[in-house]
Amino acid sequence: MSETHQRDTQLRTLTHFINGQAVAGTSTRFGEVFNPALGDVTARVPLAHVAEVDAAVAAAQAAFPAWSETAPIKRARVLFKFKELLDRHHDELAELITREHGKVRSDAHGEVMRGIEIVEFACGIPNLLKTAFTDQIGGGIDNWNLRQPLGVVAGVTPFNFPMMVPCWMFPLALACGNTFVLKPSERDPSAAIRLAELFKEAGLPDGVFNVVHGDKVAVDALLAHPGISALSFVGSTPIAEYIYTEGTKRGKRVQALGGAKNHLVVMPDADLDQVVDALMGAAYGSAGERCMAISVAVAVGPVADELVERLTPRVQALKIRNGLDADAEMGPLVSAAHRAKVEGYIQAGITEGARLVVDGRGHQVALHERGFFLGGTLFDQVQTGMTIYQEEIFGPVLCVVRVPDFAAAVALVNAHEFANGVSCFTSDGGIARAFARQIQVGMVGINVPIPVPMAWHSFGGWKRSLFGDHHAYGEEGLRFYTRYKSVMQRWPDSIAKGAEFTMPVAS
Ligand code: NAD
Repeated sequence: MSETHQRDTQLRTLTHFINGQAVAGTSTRFGEVFNPALGDVTARVPLAHVAEVDAAVAAAQAAFPAWSETAPIKRARVLFKFKELLDRHHDELAELITREHGKVRSDAHGEVMRGIEIVEFACGIPNLLKTAFTDQIGGGIDNWNLRQPLGVVAGVTPFNFPMMVPCWMFPLALACGNTFVLKPSERDPSAAIRLAELFKEAGLPDGVFNVVHGDKVAVDALLAHPGISALSFVGSTPIAEYIYTEGTKRGKRVQALGGAKNHLVVMPDADLDQVVDALMGAAYGSAGERCMAISVAVAVGPVADELVERLTPRVQALKIRNGLDADAEMGPLVSAAHRAKVEGYIQAGITEGARLVVDGRGHQVALHERGFFLGGTLFDQVQTGMTIYQEEIFGPVLCVVRVPDFAAAVALVNAHEFANGVSCFTSDGGIARAFARQIQVGMVGINVPIPVPMAWHSFGGWKRSLFGDHHAYGEEGLRFYTRYKSVMQRWPDSIAKGAEFTMPVAS
């Protein structure tokens, strides 16, 4: 038996990370953390009561005055050291992710890298916080802008990117001078704790970055806490909408990124070899548990039959293994409950009349009989009224929808309630341009299946894929984590004598 199949012999009990220390807390409630490839419980995660959330917010509030007054260049130096530590612990972090999430190791490596890239972006904070200055707007008066931190910011994150999504939030929030309380997913919480430990090792003062584990109780406590100024959320749409409504009602700044149903439009002039490769990676990579996964292939005109014909053997041949196996292309789903939910969608697709071309149910992996595996699944002849078209499945299930022409493809995508990512494969520049301009979706790929923007751009969907005004990270993140102030100044020797009762204008 290889080391990847070895079972953990000891059940670990995880801790919160508050004020620079591992804190057991007083929780009487615990969640189970699984190794999804083996189906074993490997750790117990404490689910915070209000008291632990209060302690974390108090630590962040106490750390705020000194951290926000620390020169941006000095904050950047801590981030540089943190980045070095992330590089050094890249393999360890990737393995941690694979063991709790299930995604294959190479994919976990990519996730760690995308997280590091945001830290690299945040290292530029002295330059990023530079603002505009106008000399002499009027007699002896200058005007400039400040971008000031908000205070204590909270982050609530999903299971599918236990490192990358928290990194969309806290490096930039801290670089801007805020302090932070992270509530990671209770399904794969270990990466967040490791990030907090490494940040402390990099020299981050205690209390600046805190991690509290938990479920709805912890999230509701963060929403209700008057000490939280802003909240970043990433997760499913119903919870995103709830967080946005409850948070803004209490006067907090909120950005809440939700679920998705991402289409890839296949034009008849597209290179089908490229399309099939793109669909395989984008639909089945990370077992479809990506908010940017492609779950609908929109076959335009005559391309559908050949597309389905070429996809079928590739889906059947997917290498589905323990994510730690070097040649694995796809790992298990995150939990037995989530697999059952995805299987329920497959059944709904059959019942509602879609053509099931490849059925992934019942997939077995040697030595992993209790693992949460599901094979790749392919549906053809999917109609827009079907549940499998309308809802986010978040599993390795690809639906092919047939449309007559480009206009019908654009209309189909634009009619969906989700609008996170979309892609169009074509060899026609005019079609590509029209697609990018007409499509009502936040992130667009042209011959790129998963258009996740780089750290210095910004990430976010439209419609019911994002509630709030700002996308994540990049310039939008900088705006979200700072408050804009305009300062106008003159000195006594230039103050005109006597009261002025008219609207001041440049003199
Ligand atoms: P989820 O909504 O179940 O959980 C996300 C977070 O919310 C977790 O920390 C969880 O503890 C908390 N939470 C869950 N139920 C809650 C409740 N009733 N009240 C308050 N908090 C609650 O999402 P998930 O299953 O962890 O992640 C998958 C979802 O996240 C998918 O819908 C996926 O599309 C979405 N996602 C979106 C993006 C994006 O950028 N738009 C990125 C990654 C994931």
